[in-house]
Amino acid sequence: MYNPSSLKAEEFICHEEIMSTLDFAHQHKNDAALIDEIISKAKECKGLSHREALVLLDCDIPEKNQEIFKLAEDIKKQFYGNRIVLFAPLYLSNYCVNGCLYCPYHAKNKHILRKKLTQDEIRQEVIALQDMGHKRLAIEAGEDPVNNPIEYILESIKTIYSIKHKNGAIRRVNVNIAATSVENYRKLKEAGIGTYILFQETYHKESYEKLHPSGPKHNYAYHTEAMDRAMDGGIDDVGLGVLFGLETYRYELAGLLMHAEHLEAVHGVGPHTISVPRVKHADDIDPSAFDNGIDDDVFAKIIAVIRLSVPYTGMIISTRETPQCREKVIHYGISQISGGSKTSVGGYAVPEDEELKSEQFDVSDHRTLDEVVNWLMKLGYVPSFCTACYREGRTGDRFMALCKNKQIHNCCLPNALMTLKEYLMDYASPDIKKVGESLIQSELNHISKDKVRDIVKDNLVKIENGQRDFRF
Ligand code: SAM
Repeated sequence: MYNPSSLKAEEFICHEEIMSTLDFAHQHKNDAALIDEIISKAKECKGLSHREALVLLDCDIPEKNQEIFKLAEDIKKQFYGNRIVLFAPLYLSNYCVNGCLYCPYHAKNKHILRKKLTQDEIRQEVIALQDMGHKRLAIEAGEDPVNNPIEYILESIKTIYSIKHKNGAIRRVNVNIAATSVENYRKLKEAGIGTYILFQETYHKESYEKLHPSGPKHNYAYHTEAMDRAMDGGIDDVGLGVLFGLETYRYELAGLLMHAEHLEAVHGVGPHTISVPRVKHADDIDPSAFDNGIDDDVFAKIIAVIRLSVPYTGMIISTRETPQCREKVIHYGISQISGGSKTSVGGYAVPEDEELKSEQFDVSDHRTLDEVVNWLMKLGYVPSFCTACYREGRTGDRFMALCKNKQIHNCCLPNALMTLKEYLMDYASPDIKKVGESLIQSELNHISKDKVRDIVKDNLVKIENGQRDFRF
């Protein structure tokens, strides 16, 4: 029954195949020969099947686990170098007709402050985000056809792209809204979005239906098949994710990787990103009400195994996690992080009232973007505000082809250095500017092509002199 090329959710996310995979992995968790074979395959950087990935996830041999973590770091460096791309979420509206049991936006919550930003309020939020230094946003909204119709989302995207405040600009808007129709995905594509992100929440159908007892999101097939509709609508960068804590992490990882295999089989291109959110405390939500919470060690292992399984896919970690946890897992394959985030509707321009809150969940990393940039540099990473790929038409299979043959480095490092320079000139505090300037100088030596290095050096001078937005 398992068929990655099928367009039916229950065939490409096949429960029986997942159960037999979990059984197989459990039986082989001490099978050193098989684990060695899978690690060798992972070293070729061509990815792993969900079955192979689950064997590594279950692997119970400490030395082999160390190899897995080490390899995840190596692969991350091969495909993404030492760059970490930064973004922020922007919540447009928390009106929602769904009944998701883990989310405080659920329709029955009469306690949370309901808010929908006007275009003028969006303008204020975007100016505040630009003043922090952000160039890339992920817009978020509850599902409510009356309050948040597609026209509202499209108008908001137009507003966001139109704002040019001082040297600021939002150059990439990713979108995290509920599953919708091919026609609406086409409209989002025409509005110039970057990645369409939709978390599956859980791949376990029975649990999914219980966790989403009411509203359009109750429909498992419609939700699970959304990425196919998005791709049919012309969106070729899609972002997957599960909400860890709802179901067992082993089931979720198998489902997630089967979803990636499905996209590859049907559309010839896997997910652009994978997010790894964990359930957090929120207004009327207590995460301990869900039985499947995972600790930081398991979380790190999941991230490392994803990195080995889909080496070319970006991986995102949000401010749901503490600075300590982010520091622990970032090395195992994370390529994008949020910084200075608010999960309230509004709140960047004017802080929310303590008594009346609209937040989706508690944030655990409260550092400013400047502090996050500084922390990344101290850890040896290059913070990047690059948005060049989709603006240069490097999306979908074109991006993946460049990424798979590692040619993407020729663009990414130069773009990272030039956007970091913009950040240092326009937004960084003096101390951080100093650290950043010397980082740029040392990283210039890692640009392999002399001609590219010379162009970057020229552009860095031009940025000093006030010009902006150079890219390869
Ligand atoms: N309403 C859209 C949907 O249905 O997909 C947009 C998603 S919502 C604004 C963003 C994501 O936040 C959800 O997909 C869910 O995974 C996550 N989320 C919801 N409640 C959460 C909680 N209590 N802790 C952590 N993440 C949560």
